Amino acid sequence: MALEPPFPELDEFLAAIGAAGQRVSEIAASEGAAGNISVCIGWPIEVRRRFPISEPIELPLAAPALAGMHVIVSGSGRRLRDIHADPAANLGVVAIAADRQSTLLYTSPRRLFAHVTSEFNSHLAVHNDQVARSGTNFHALIHAQPPHLTYLSHIPAYREQAYLNRRLLRWEPETIINLPEGIGFIPFRLPGSPELMAANVEALREHRIVLWSKHGVMARSDQSVTKAADRIEYAETAAMYEYMDLVNGCKAEGLTEEELREVVQTFDVPTTLV
Ligand SMILES: [Zn+2]
Repeated sequence: MALEPPFPELDEFLAAIGAAGQRVSEIAASEGAAGNISVCIGWPIEVRRRFPISEPIELPLAAPALAGMHVIVSGSGRRLRDIHADPAANLGVVAIAADRQSTLLYTSPRRLFAHVTSEFNSHLAVHNDQVARSGTNFHALIHAQPPHLTYLSHIPAYREQAYLNRRLLRWEPETIINLPEGIGFIPFRLPGSPELMAANVEALREHRIVLWSKHGVMARSDQSVTKAADRIEYAETAAMYEYMDLVNGCKAEGLTEEELREVVQTFDVPTTLV
């Protein structure tokens, strides 16, 4: 999947990232400075009017599939809920060169951060993998920390991916329609570590959202940053129902296997989960 011209303008991306940050914050998935967002753009885009300051930046890993592309990314320590008020102060743009040495970070004179997000390695690795595999010219990623999903990952039974999905897909018909591959799961890995990065790349090949055990989620979209935020919201809403049911003594029925199958057939959902 790739976006077709006429392509969105830089300011539209900045507004969309701001709105996604606000939405993720409204569902309590980005306490303090938790969470980060990046958007990879594969067509020529002029960023120097909004981000006139440039400096060399060393990429945390080689990203050959992204040569010539721009990645708009949130700054380390910045709050997702604040981006919309002044996107240029909270975001930077990495212009990825064919050789690692020539890559530049563009920022605003109002810049409020020293470095881009500490999870930039995970963002970059997934963008590179997705662009290399699908040839897309657009890719958005959001890392957030939704409390109900994260809580469930602390219960050993929910760390089994098939069980997690069986339990979460049963609350609303929309869940499987929007997450036909379900939710991927990766065991606890240290934040920012190469191990988290590698497991995340692998899991996001098969899923559009992945639960990082005892930490949070990462969601992707090759259509819009809004769609990536929606995926977090769908998954977190399902986890909220599951949590409500657990604390209420598991009294609810949930959608039956048969009801779910009917949804999948009627809406022609490309899934192997039911
Ligand atoms: Zn985090």
